[in-house]
Amino acid sequence: MSKAYDNNNVFAKILKGIIPCQKIDENKFSLAFTDINPQAPIHILVIPKNPYIDFYDFTKNATSEEVKFFWELVNEVISKKNIVEKGFRIITNSGKDGNQDVPHFHVHILGGRNLGKMIS
Ligand code: 5GP
Repeated sequence: MSKAYDNNNVFAKILKGIIPCQKIDENKFSLAFTDINPQAPIHILVIPKNPYIDFYDFTKNATSEEVKFFWELVNEVISKKNIVEKGFRIITNSGKDGNQDVPHFHVHILGGRNLGKMIS
């Protein structure tokens, strides 16, 4: 049985304007904002505006237009933050083993310093 989307998760509340965020950019289908607990000098979250639980749900069920707009916004943020040359890391956590805290699909864009090798 597939999981149900939780309409009361924090990012759903950000999308509804119930909780504020520090917006970086947005497009028709996606929103980018600063992570409240940054793990690097640049730590930005990109989320789809429609309700998808995680990477699998988004990739399986979003329209190709939504997917395209999502990754375009990710690239826009990378360009806006001037980290194309220096580099960055994109992370998406999913489910229990991935330690996903907020059950609305998001990617973390991290940069602004050397991030070391992979996370243990
Ligand atoms: P996850 O563990 O689900 O991949 O990451 C969730 C992220 O959301 C965490 O990095 C956490 O700091 C961030 N976060 C949680 N609540 C809020 C919030 O209210 N506002 C913002 N901007 N980020 C949040």
